[in-house]
Amino acid sequence: MSRTDRRDDSVNSGKVSLYDVIIIGSGPAGYTAGIYTSRARLQTLLVTGTLPGGQLMTTSEVENYPGFPNGIFGPELMMNMRQQAERFGTLAIDDEVIQVDFKQRPFKITTSGEIFESEAVLICTGASPRKLGIKGEQMFAGRGVSYCATCDGPFFKGEDIVVVGGGDTALEEATFLTKFGKSVKIVHRRDSLRASKILQDKAFENPKIEFLWNSVVSDIIGDKKIASIVVSDVYNGKEQKIQAGGLFVAIGHDPNTSIFRGQLELDDKGYIALKNNSFTNIEGVFAAGDVHDYRYRQAITAGGFGCMAALDVEKWLTERKHRANTEPSEVAFTQMRRQALKDS
Ligand code: NAP
Repeated sequence: MSRTDRRDDSVNSGKVSLYDVIIIGSGPAGYTAGIYTSRARLQTLLVTGTLPGGQLMTTSEVENYPGFPNGIFGPELMMNMRQQAERFGTLAIDDEVIQVDFKQRPFKITTSGEIFESEAVLICTGASPRKLGIKGEQMFAGRGVSYCATCDGPFFKGEDIVVVGGGDTALEEATFLTKFGKSVKIVHRRDSLRASKILQDKAFENPKIEFLWNSVVSDIIGDKKIASIVVSDVYNGKEQKIQAGGLFVAIGHDPNTSIFRGQLELDDKGYIALKNNSFTNIEGVFAAGDVHDYRYRQAITAGGFGCMAALDVEKWLTERKHRANTEPSEVAFTQMRRQALKDS
């Protein structure tokens, strides 16, 4: 029976699998958490999401992750983390969670084809690249518009390239794109950058990079692919048409929390609001990484949060089981169900 058949069967029959903890998301937070929970002998399921490995899969060299004096490529780092989690028993499945039910216990997690249950859930769904929201952006996606220089840069050899944004990502990507493009113009809506000084210096020193200050991209023109980009001055609205074969959007990220809306407390930006360490407002549901942290957003900090949350999950489950032994509750019921599942 194929995996798809098995999934269809699982959904149709309502059959579920029960885990100690389900980790949703597979960036540094998710994989680190998996290493810790499975090493602690917790039955751990990790659902990777649509981009297994998360944002680092679309990064070139990572120079600031400790332990790699000569740097490491993002995808390699993430594959290493996954293998490390799997080595200790984490079951990682490349699937997407489409629905969660935190109203009943055990919690119910529905992926595109299967239903799983767990006593604890750890959310590590990270954040996704923000869109400009202008005409043509969607139409030219994959035909000149990109959100990932590492993935798509090599397709723009000899082209004039435009990068939008003034943060670390925009400058890092622009510098990387000079390896391929004839020229790189950075369009930024203000007259100063928020990127770190070291990345600013690198960009200012690069002869292929030019800045268009106080400007926004207002239109994308082309036929089968991008031919030019219209840039508007934010103060006087004056427009100029720039010849460009590629537009890289690097204007930040939004947290991947839509499936939790209405069930979990989010802050005004949509990030998960933590109550105490990695605890959310629902007991047994934890969060780690960029899904709650918009301040640091580094691989190493996400990994650290994943570790902290895994320790919180482990402690919480241990205390819960202890309580179940002294005062019969729904925990004992869950344990009975787990035994029944094993026996079936
Ligand atoms: P970011 O720091 O939030 O910067 C986003 C940039 O896009 C800002 O310059 C912002 O302008 C601009 N922007 C936002 N919305 C826009 C819109 N609708 N139209 C035009 N411009 C818009 O995001 P990021 O650069 O992706 O960085 C995210 C985090 O990752 C940061 O903490 C960063 O330090 C970290 N990071 C680190 C590294 C590294 O250490 N090597 C590399 C990449 C990222 P304003 O400045 O006017 O707000």
